[in-house]
Parts: sequence; structure tokens; C-alpha cells
Amino acid sequence: MIHQCQKCKKFCSSLVVVCRLCSGMTVRATWTDGRIMYFGDSYKKWEEQLKEYVREYMDCLKPLKIEESYTPWIKNGAKWRNEELFLKALEAEHRTINEFNFLEYKQ
Ligand SMILES: [Zn+2]
Repeated sequence: MIHQCQKCKKFCSSLVVVCRLCSGMTVRATWTDGRIMYFGDSYKKWEEQLKEYVREYMDCLKPLKIEESYTPWIKNGAKWRNEELFLKALEAEHRTINEFNFLEYKQ
């Protein structure tokens, strides 16, 4: 059975309402000092949120590693979350970290 994404109109065999790209992404960024932060597509794309965070808090030091997941970001409009707050936000949405299959992001 082939379905059509209601947003981008592409055809896909596995989507339900919108495809994985249209549902938004979540990424996990790790810095050399061990700091881990989560970003996602919300009112801005995750790339913009990450750039803003790097400018503001990391003294323009880029993350060592970025991992991506096609599982949608949390719905509360947060620009970014540390691990603890990210897990709390998921819990509030009755979701778990297990649904995010994070894979290394190829820049
Ligand atoms: Zn789509």
C-alpha cells in the first residue's frame, strides 16, 4: 500500500499522515567537554537552533559530534534541552528515548 504525504505530497509505503522529513527531526549534539544538548525542528529548523546555541553559549565552539533522528522534536516549542530536561519533556508527552534511533549525522 502506497500513501501520499499530506504535506510534501511525496509517495511512500511506510508513512501514515506525513512522511519522516515533514514530521521534523531531532538531533543530539556532543561537545569535547562532554556536554550533550538536544535540538529539533520546531518553529525554526534544528540547524538554526544549534547555530544560535553555539553562538550564545559555546563561544562559537562547534560540537564534536551530531547525531540525527527522524523522530519528531518535543511539542512545547523549546529551542533546545539538556538531557535531563529533554527526558522530562518526553515523559510529559508519554514518549521515551527508545523511539529515537540516533545515527551519526553526515555534514
Ligand atoms: Zn512529506
